Amino acid sequence: MNAVDHAALADRFRAVKDTIPAHVTLVAVSKTRSVEEIRALYELGQRDFGENYPQELREKAPQLPPDVRWHFIGHLQRSNVKHVLPYAHLIHGVDSERLLEELNKRAMGLSGPVDVLLQVHIAQEETKHGFSTTEVTDLLHTTDPALRWPQLRIRGLMGMATNTDHQGVVAGEFTALGALYHALEKEQRFAAGVPPVLSMGMSGDAALAIACGSTMVRVGTAIFGQR
Ligand SMILES: *Cc1c(COP(=O)(O)O)cnc(C)c1O
Repeated sequence: MNAVDHAALADRFRAVKDTIPAHVTLVAVSKTRSVEEIRALYELGQRDFGENYPQELREKAPQLPPDVRWHFIGHLQRSNVKHVLPYAHLIHGVDSERLLEELNKRAMGLSGPVDVLLQVHIAQEETKHGFSTTEVTDLLHTTDPALRWPQLRIRGLMGMATNTDHQGVVAGEFTALGALYHALEKEQRFAAGVPPVLSMGMSGDAALAIACGSTMVRVGTAIFGQR
């Protein structure tokens, strides 16, 4: 493994940090990155890290201080829920009722509630997971999540824009997700007593996402360099 260039990493991190307003949480996406790189950012004050793969999360989390907040941002399979739950501070990509059921069931053995975001499919690509806008609206209107999944707290929404250079397409998708989030938040459809979360924006589109109402951005390459 190559030695970590700590100075370059710190420079990139600070440059990103400077663009993020105080009300927005920066999740440093550390998938495929070494424990050493994560520790370097930790020492610069970063606490929120995002991982995509259950196996990687299980390997890295025990090697880092317990006050790291691990965000599971990948596609979560039901068979992996039990491996991810012990570490996850927030699970971003919940995309089905069956997954909600499994999370609620497995969360029963834990000491506190499990925080999750519902992933909304906003991109034009077929490959991105998530509920449709209608499905999310229906889900949160027809059931009281606090009664149906008492071990979970649905904190808000997560979305990924189409991977394109067309800013107009991305802006349209972020605006739509921002509006959906805003409407549901106004109706108090998210977990009571804790701040709501809209997770949208990555290295290439974080500024645009924040302009469209994001409260949490997931930034990998702009901090760590190309994977
Ligand atoms: C990898 C990943 C990111 C970070 O992407 P960058 O372009 O490296 O910033 C954000 N969100 C999700 C869901 C990811 O899988």
